[in-house]
Amino acid sequence: MRQNDQPYIIAGPCSVESFGQLREATEALCKMPQVKMIRAGVWKPRTRPGGFEGLGEQALKWMQQLAAEYGVRYCCEVARPEHVELCRQYGIGTVWIGARTTSNPFMVEEVCEALKASGMEVMVKNPVSPDVRLWMGALERVQRAGVRSVAAVHRGFDVYNNEGLRNAPLWELVLTLRRELPEVPMLCDPSHLGGSRDRVEELSLAAMQLAYDGLMIEVHPSPALAMSDTAQQLTPAEFETLLEHLQQQYHRSGSSEEQRLAPLRRQMDDVDHELLRLLGRRMELSREIAGVKRETGMTVYQSKRWEEVLTDRLRLAETLGLEPGFVKELLEKIHAESVRVQLD
Ligand code: PEP
Ligand code: MN
Repeated sequence: MRQNDQPYIIAGPCSVESFGQLREATEALCKMPQVKMIRAGVWKPRTRPGGFEGLGEQALKWMQQLAAEYGVRYCCEVARPEHVELCRQYGIGTVWIGARTTSNPFMVEEVCEALKASGMEVMVKNPVSPDVRLWMGALERVQRAGVRSVAAVHRGFDVYNNEGLRNAPLWELVLTLRRELPEVPMLCDPSHLGGSRDRVEELSLAAMQLAYDGLMIEVHPSPALAMSDTAQQLTPAEFETLLEHLQQQYHRSGSSEEQRLAPLRRQMDDVDHELLRLLGRRMELSREIAGVKRETGMTVYQSKRWEEVLTDRLRLAETLGLEPGFVKELLEKIHAESVRVQLD
């Protein structure tokens, strides 16, 4: 999906609201060469009843007309098999499964049934809850339905403390998914992560730092008048500025950057090797200690000694400017392994 290291950019309004609004958005976005596809919601899953639920088939008719007129491609969310069928009828070749649908394997299964032999490209947003296996499961179901082009979209997770964002990024969870399914391109949706237009740029830049393959960003000709997600949609002008800032970031990371990194990376390799050798030495000591404990009838686990070790190491960590939570977790892991070795 990433072409010449440029991120794959999808942009467009949260929802199709009128022919005029879709035309205005399309007119602005088709002039931006970085934009590869236009997003526009047609069926809107609303958390509570009474909100704007999307225009359905009428919106698809407009999309088909404008796709031909402007030579653009649209994508939208599908949540039911009927949605897939309607998209196919109106020439929508790319769809995504939304966060609320990904959370429910029965619904994913039904949508996948309709996707079979559809030839569509499919993106799968992460589920609402921080459960990477549900996300992976939905991606695998889509793959098993024979969909050849499958991508993941990270739109953040609803957790107790979202730290001022609409949905917490939990970047480490995304790294897990990338490790498990390395062939699946990963896009970031900073609009639903941030929930407000002033957070979109920093989140987009963070995603680029983490080598995401693309971005899906909400852009509306008049965000203040939007019928859904008013606070997070960018105006086309704001979006263009964001694209410029993204571009500047690439220009800064050319081949001279690689040259500067190379010697630092070699030093880092040395440090890692040293760390592993030291860990090996530490485990040898554990085995020797285990022998003495066995001979003298001492228990392997010595709580007082462990507390002393922890206190001492955390004090040292503090003087070294290391994050205490990280050091504690690391020491606990090492200690657990040491206990395992001693029980061996
Ligand atoms: C959307 O993209 O407009 C949307 C409803 O997203 P999500 O499924 O991430 O909430
Ligand atoms: Mn939205």
